[in-house]
Amino acid sequence: MKLHFYGTGASEGFPSLFCQCENCASARKLGGKNIRTRASLGVDEELLIDFSQDTYGHCLYGGLDLTKIRHLLITHSHSDHFCPADIANILPPMAVTEEGRTLDVYGNAVVTERLDSIRRRFPEANGKLRLHQIRAFDCFRAGEHEITALRADHMETEESLLYVIRGGGKTLLYGQDSAMFPEDTWQALKDFRFDCVLLDCTSVDQPHHFQTHMSFEDNLSIKRRMEEEGLAGDGTIFIATHFVHTFAPFHDRLTKMFAPYGFVPAYDGMETEF
Ligand SMILES: [Zn+2]
Ligand SMILES: [Zn+2]
Ligand SMILES: [Zn+2]
Repeated sequence: MKLHFYGTGASEGFPSLFCQCENCASARKLGGKNIRTRASLGVDEELLIDFSQDTYGHCLYGGLDLTKIRHLLITHSHSDHFCPADIANILPPMAVTEEGRTLDVYGNAVVTERLDSIRRRFPEANGKLRLHQIRAFDCFRAGEHEITALRADHMETEESLLYVIRGGGKTLLYGQDSAMFPEDTWQALKDFRFDCVLLDCTSVDQPHHFQTHMSFEDNLSIKRRMEEEGLAGDGTIFIATHFVHTFAPFHDRLTKMFAPYGFVPAYDGMETEF
């Protein structure tokens, strides 16, 4: 399975647009792996998870080729994961696409209803954008991948999802955005053994700062429990992502902090194959 991290920042990005804090000023100066756009992960070049307001930038400057993406999984409707107006650009006349070209989008009720309200304005183009409303614990196939949706602990107003993706004999957990996983999600995780686990590390080394996100301390306790329950082992790759600007998510600092615990900090443009 081939992963491409297009965006690894939290909702405001790093540097944050208007921010004059020291961290953001340094990130602007340093550039490179210290620039973090909003969330998106490519899987095997045909599947994309989350489509933020930065996706257009990922296409222009990050090597993302949306003409190849056939399936799109959305975790929840926050704008750093879901930009419906840009997804709807697959519809003619905004895009000229080959006969039979479709984009299948999977998401919760809020996500699919928002997309459907745009799609209804283009009745002849409906077939290009196919919507699949899913709920936590649904299993389905998306092209070459088997997907299981899990429940996140992230929003009260909608069912925010996490995803297990299986393909080519490998298994990935996409574990953002969420606070510590709910118990029914832990029960469902028992059906899998993971080759790669990606976790929400929004508040970095400041535990309990957000109620709806995790810190690195939470990531460590998830890793410990996964290992204890046999869901992960020596070969499992653990990756932290979705870092807020406030807590200095500079790539070198995070690498030093995480490496002793067997974690890799994601950065925009990072590729992983397992
Ligand atoms: Zn987010
Ligand atoms: Zn800042
Ligand atoms: Zn969110």
